[in-house]
Amino acid sequence: MPGWQAVLRRQAAELPDPFRITFLGGLGEIGRNCACLEQDGRIVVLDCGVMFPDPQMPGIDLVLPDLSYLRDHAEQVDAVVLTHGHEDHTGGLAYLLRDLSVPVYGSALTLGLASNRVEEAGLSDRVRWVEVADGERRRVGPFDAEFIPVTHSVPHGFATAFFTAQGVVLHSGDFKLDLQPVDGRLTDLARIGSLAVDPGIRLLLADSTNAEEPGFTASETSVGATLRRVFAAHGGQRLIVTCFASHLHRVQQVADAARASGRKIATLGRSMAKNVELGRRLGILDIPDGALVDVERVQDLPDGEVCIVSTGSQGEPLSALSLMAAGESKLVRLRPGDVVVISAHPIPGNEWAVGRVIDGLYRRGAEVVHTGVEPVHVSGHARQGELQTLLSIARPEWFVPVHGEYRHLVNHRRLALSMGVPEEQALVCEDGDSLVLDDRGILRGPAVPAGYLYVDGTVGDVGHGVLRDRRVLAEEGVVMVVATVDPHRGEVVAPPQVVTRGWVYAPEAEALLEEASATVAKALELAMAEGARDQESLQRTARRALGRMVGERTRRRPMIVPVVVSV
Ligand SMILES: [Zn+2]
Ligand SMILES: [Zn+2]
Repeated sequence: MPGWQAVLRRQAAELPDPFRITFLGGLGEIGRNCACLEQDGRIVVLDCGVMFPDPQMPGIDLVLPDLSYLRDHAEQVDAVVLTHGHEDHTGGLAYLLRDLSVPVYGSALTLGLASNRVEEAGLSDRVRWVEVADGERRRVGPFDAEFIPVTHSVPHGFATAFFTAQGVVLHSGDFKLDLQPVDGRLTDLARIGSLAVDPGIRLLLADSTNAEEPGFTASETSVGATLRRVFAAHGGQRLIVTCFASHLHRVQQVADAARASGRKIATLGRSMAKNVELGRRLGILDIPDGALVDVERVQDLPDGEVCIVSTGSQGEPLSALSLMAAGESKLVRLRPGDVVVISAHPIPGNEWAVGRVIDGLYRRGAEVVHTGVEPVHVSGHARQGELQTLLSIARPEWFVPVHGEYRHLVNHRRLALSMGVPEEQALVCEDGDSLVLDDRGILRGPAVPAGYLYVDGTVGDVGHGVLRDRRVLAEEGVVMVVATVDPHRGEVVAPPQVVTRGWVYAPEAEALLEEASATVAKALELAMAEGARDQESLQRTARRALGRMVGERTRRRPMIVPVVVSV
């Protein structure tokens, strides 16, 4: 007869393994979505996205999740699963693949969009692309994963159900409940409902982007109706429509409106041309050859037969639309009578840039149709009514809001509470948090590094210190002083040289610069008289004296860079 310890040991061995999820990005910001799903010591990465920099990050091209946790556990990573093709979910893949070589799962379109950057980085040989179909269930690392169709602002996105040792973990992906999607491919609520019944959903992670917006997001097809109306109202005029290049359903509706009004379609901008080609190849875009025309040939057509679909809806400085607005596009010269439709909403932070582009378009004499004038755009994310619908169908035991700024997460949790999820079973997590799901429920695990990783040129060498310096330089400028001293005789050998950028305009401020030089010379001589000899303390003296003088005389705080050389 085995003793009770042996029975307990055996029971413990039979307990299913815990499931663990670690959030590396996307919880507390819109962007750089990335999570690690773990069981039996194996890891599946769910999305690996980028975030676009805000004005507080001068010179930064992109922001990545801190991938050090994955780098440290590289041998344990079995796969990457991509929910859909947006950059905030796929744009970091090229950086992740520097450290590991794994299969990447996603829909054909998602993989097609994601592979662009990976190819540009020359890392194609480090990845095996694995296409998955709607509703497919297959082994991915330590789990079975089922790919459930959802509607969103890029076609062929998925919610993903992971069948773990601890039950079903359902991740919504980015989604809305579009009841009339352009391609008829609905969010598969029926499947989610059947999972909720059998075997039940233990943990739901859901998109929080629009958790503060009441009601329901309008259907994508409503934009098609608006476009047809706008096109009809501007017969005889050239039409230029800008939208996200990955929003192929929007592009389809622009093309349909163009064809219905007797126009040919030309693409403008590299990513638009590339994505239209990809969409047509995959059968997602239905635009016959005869409906397309090269953008260089549009001048041969009458104005009323032209529709140009262009990149640049976010006011990106070098995009096709910005160049047109500045009168610098070599391909399309805007003129009075042209109509520009901005079929997008500025991402928070881009409003100013988009505003400037709209100004430029008006300056060229064009008419501008944007969301302030006509409903030429709808969101790709679920509002409160849709989030509540998902919660009511999924009926999860545990709930964690994902994909949002902190306030979106908090408000999404409140929605879940209003739907009857118990307070202690709805958790707000942030980047770096980890959760462990076992038989008893969810416990918070140890935190991992999840700070911003800044990309400027090459990745990783821009830290917080560098950014702080850049902010001071941008806001206050720099004053540099170079002094040569003879510490043994206690003398400043020649008047210190003061050089500045961004503090005062030097040619008009000679008196200030001379005063600065004299101030530093005096301070150094005094310090040497008191026994200071080493370079470090003399530089400290120079910085303090110059900083004080600059502050008192100009009420400014530029960066002070002292260089003291001994002879
Ligand atoms: Zn998305
Ligand atoms: Zn997203």
